Amino acid sequence: MAGIALEVSPANAPQPLKKKRLLQHHKNGVLSQNALAAVRRSLPIFSARDRLIQELKKSPTVIVIGETASGKTTQIPQFLLKSGLGKTGCIACTQPRRVAAITIAQRVSAELNVKLGEEVGYCVRFEDCTNEKTRIKYMTDGMLLRESLGDSLLSRYSSILLDEAHERTVHTDVLFGIVKDAQKSRKEKGLPGLRIIIMSATMDVDHFSKYFNKSPVLYLEGRLHKIDILYTEEKQSDYLGATLVTIFQIHQESNPQEDILVFLTGQEEIESMCRTIKDLSISLPSNLPKLLIYPLYASLPKHQQLKAFHATPQGARKIVLATNIAETSVTIKGIKYVIDTGRVKAKSFLPSTGLDILAVQKISKAQAWQRAGRAGRECPGTVYRLYTEEEYSEMDEMTKPEILRCNLSSVILQLMAIGITDVQTFDFMDPPPKESIEDALNQLQILGAISKKCGYQLTDLGWKMSVFPLDPKLSRIILASTAADRRCTEEAISLVALLSVDSILYVPHGKREEAHAAKQKFVSSEGDHIMLLNIYNSFKKYKGDAGWCYDNFIITRNLNMAGNIRRQLRDLCVKAGIKDINSNRTDMAQLRKSVASGMFVNAAELQHDGTYKALSTGQTVQIHPSSCLFRCKPAYVIYNELIYTSKCYIRDLCVIDPEWLFDAAPEYFRRRLKIE
Ligand code: ADP
Ligand code: MG
Repeated sequence: MAGIALEVSPANAPQPLKKKRLLQHHKNGVLSQNALAAVRRSLPIFSARDRLIQELKKSPTVIVIGETASGKTTQIPQFLLKSGLGKTGCIACTQPRRVAAITIAQRVSAELNVKLGEEVGYCVRFEDCTNEKTRIKYMTDGMLLRESLGDSLLSRYSSILLDEAHERTVHTDVLFGIVKDAQKSRKEKGLPGLRIIIMSATMDVDHFSKYFNKSPVLYLEGRLHKIDILYTEEKQSDYLGATLVTIFQIHQESNPQEDILVFLTGQEEIESMCRTIKDLSISLPSNLPKLLIYPLYASLPKHQQLKAFHATPQGARKIVLATNIAETSVTIKGIKYVIDTGRVKAKSFLPSTGLDILAVQKISKAQAWQRAGRAGRECPGTVYRLYTEEEYSEMDEMTKPEILRCNLSSVILQLMAIGITDVQTFDFMDPPPKESIEDALNQLQILGAISKKCGYQLTDLGWKMSVFPLDPKLSRIILASTAADRRCTEEAISLVALLSVDSILYVPHGKREEAHAAKQKFVSSEGDHIMLLNIYNSFKKYKGDAGWCYDNFIITRNLNMAGNIRRQLRDLCVKAGIKDINSNRTDMAQLRKSVASGMFVNAAELQHDGTYKALSTGQTVQIHPSSCLFRCKPAYVIYNELIYTSKCYIRDLCVIDPEWLFDAAPEYFRRRLKIE
């Protein structure tokens, strides 16, 4: 594929002098307008602006590939706005992750010197920071997908930039098909055109170009800052040990304020690494910079995530321990060193069991490049790859599209609600395996969301379920709670909201016993779901009092978030035509029945040896020690999560009656349950 190269003149390479001058504009980590303008002008994309606009004028769809930090995400939407190309509507730029959408919108609003949420805003699940003035909108791909539910032509947008296209999340993949179709339909109807821009630093351009009607590929050449890449000489069997050695080596050899970003696989690993670094740093020589350590993972509350992005105080060094949420798009101030363990926890789907599991696996080359890219955002940097060059050469070129490795039921329900009923023939860039689609259709069918006559159709229930931006199982719980003989919708939406936020209980290191004792007030023999509700109800009774939360080891912010989500779910109930929401139950059996109606696929049965059997798969599982049912042995439970560590655990449990499973899905359980 012949691409168009947009060259960058050497004059745009940053001069050391310029950097010095910039530092003088640095007040409390905030750059002045002049300094921001100077950074923008130094970006490789800046000198390519006119050529880029010319190309965009010629073709309704373009693919832009340019190195990390060349300025794609922050600058191209601004170019569109300034050149008048985005006149007929809003400019949307999608991001695979919310933290990226938020921090980039902050940056661009600062560059344009406007208030965040006005001309420049962001929209992520459960948080819309835009208003009627908004012209540039950074949003998660999931949010744009939801908008397409109400308006398949995406009429309010003049341009849609699908960023970090190489990540190939399910939402991005579905969006590819939807924006392509919206562009075509708008043209056929004689409506204002839709401009599509696909962006990334690392992608299979031929594959993309072919899918988007042979659209031109624009190569942005040039990198703002040089990045040194170092490999280990030998394979590392203990990558966590190797990470620690590398961190302390950098810490002893480099200047303060030269910060370190480490890529790890998940929350537990990150939290334990935080503690180890803190413990070890006590015995370091006192002349070394002060160490500030920030975890950064998806389930961390937003304000804590954003702390990692702040500038490091004078004389200190920041270490950010992150999952792959920091891999693409983001600029974390001060990062000069990246440590890449070469591993990621990613979703994979077992079609035989119908379950999504998270498992640690090797990253792809594209991911390794993105990680390296985080080192050269504001200055030259170095990446320490904790694997050998040979191991690198054996990695997959690209990450396998998520759509080829996850549970499709929620995606398919949304597609059907948009009117794409023939999912098997949807124009996917890489269609998922036939069995996965069939499996998802099956799941939706047993949930009662779709029915099969000639082809699949959404049922009335399915329509209502598609209104909620939730896993179909959770939407089903809400709808099951509305039945005349159940009437527990208030409780059901509280529960679903509580299941949609991060843990509301805080177990500080060294205070395990106290936290456990505090929890006893709320525990219930009916399981963790009811315990969560007990906590929420007490929280409301004490009007969110901070002292009460502190004494009870409760994370106020997460409970407030649940309250916020709950309000939105209540509004969505109205939208789904659910009239009678008010209930006020003290008996929780009806709620547990509703949980069984939605989550019956996650039922487990007690065995003679005290373990449990997951009924959908026959797999042996055990109750996780964090559950309030840990030492109890209820005959049947529903679990919210399956975790593989040394054993296979079930977590967040609800005690149920086996008859309820029969009521919920008689066909499904006929063969699985033997009730005397
Ligand atoms: P790309 O999308 O090509 O990777 P971006 O447009 O995201 O590049 O960023 C280009 C450059 O703008 C970064 O290398 C950095 O210098 C600057 N920048 C972007 N976002 C921020 C931010 N939040 N804080 C500081 N600098 C930023
Ligand atoms: Mg980017």
